[in-house]
Amino acid sequence: MALVLTNALLVDFDPVGVEAGALRIEGGVIAARGNVTAEVNDEVADCGGAVVLPGMVNGHTHLYSALAVGMPPPAEAPENFREILERVWWRLDQALDAESIEMSARIGAINALRCGTTTLIDHHASPNYIGGSLDLIERAIRDVGLRGVLCYETTDRHGVEGRHAGLDENRRYLDRCERAPDGRFAGLVGAHASFTVEDETLGQLAELAADFETGVHIHVAEDPCDEEECQEEHQMFLIDRLVSHKLLKPGSVFAHCTHLDPEAMARVGGSGVTIAHNPRSNMNNGVGYTPVATVRGPIMLGTDGIGSDMLAEAKAAWFMSRHEHAGLTPMHIADMLAESARRASRALGVTLGGLAIGAVADVVITDYVPSTPMTPENVAGHLLFGVGSEHVTDVLVGGEWVLRDGQIESCDEANTCRSAGDVASALWDRMADID
Ligand SMILES: [Zn+2]
Repeated sequence: MALVLTNALLVDFDPVGVEAGALRIEGGVIAARGNVTAEVNDEVADCGGAVVLPGMVNGHTHLYSALAVGMPPPAEAPENFREILERVWWRLDQALDAESIEMSARIGAINALRCGTTTLIDHHASPNYIGGSLDLIERAIRDVGLRGVLCYETTDRHGVEGRHAGLDENRRYLDRCERAPDGRFAGLVGAHASFTVEDETLGQLAELAADFETGVHIHVAEDPCDEEECQEEHQMFLIDRLVSHKLLKPGSVFAHCTHLDPEAMARVGGSGVTIAHNPRSNMNNGVGYTPVATVRGPIMLGTDGIGSDMLAEAKAAWFMSRHEHAGLTPMHIADMLAESARRASRALGVTLGGLAIGAVADVVITDYVPSTPMTPENVAGHLLFGVGSEHVTDVLVGGEWVLRDGQIESCDEANTCRSAGDVASALWDRMADID
């Protein structure tokens, strides 16, 4: 039996477009589009002339931060980026145990689903529970019904033992995904940032990426401290350090790149590396604006752990670019949504980000009926000033209903949130005990 969505305004990101019509979904993929007639046994859903979007992709997130909402602030307020890491996030990640890792991922996935985000490119850290942590995250995302591209952020912050555990977890997970590819989950090689990894570690990360023909997902120049510490410790520019260890290559994901100089930015742009732009996080940390308009290479959109509302992130990317007089157009922002889907598609071996025939049926139905003309030329304007996650009513992943009439089909959302409250309290208590 097929599902036919009728009377829809079909929006695509790659390339950006809109077309009134219907979709036929069968076998987990888009089987037909346009003038589709339902057959006798087909399930039919009338979209009422509202916008239907492809499931969105969060290009860089940290699901482990989902239980940080409302967390007590540190005793002493951080005054710079490094202190934000030391007093907030590096205490949180140390306090994570199996239960809180899985629950964070479950809540993060539920929040994503409600925003029409169906694939999460995650970057995970839990130094006191490394081995098996990616399986816990996968289980939570899978239970909610979404897709994931996962990695463990390898670092030398916890000595050689911690480094090896991080590398091993990446290798184990990549191997598992490679042995049983299902289009739902894949791995990348994760690393925290240049300033917390030794030369030997960078070499091992590159080897691992080469073994699995993939890239390294790493924070780059989020704050000036990354470049400064590289020059102090290694007597070279950050970009040269990354090049010398073979991280600047297609497949790698560099999150932020906020403080690379124009020459370094040009090298990243020409290398095939995908930059993940996270404007709300950059504002939240007060680290500045990534000069995305100068990059001649792929730039995708991520949230860096501030939920997974990609339409809100797109709006923030637009407003921040206007504030910075960056010279972007709405189409540039729409293309960042498309780029997140392209990167995840390559990792997962499926087609995301569009509603074309053959794409997997990750489909977001909204109640947004445009009150102004919507054309292929102005779709991006509607994404930035019209449709938002508040309009998401139904979501399909791989052709299966995951959110239906505003209700999550895959789990008891209210019960999960209540249980998460207890897990979060215990997590915050453990954090308070960490120096
Ligand atoms: Zn990040």
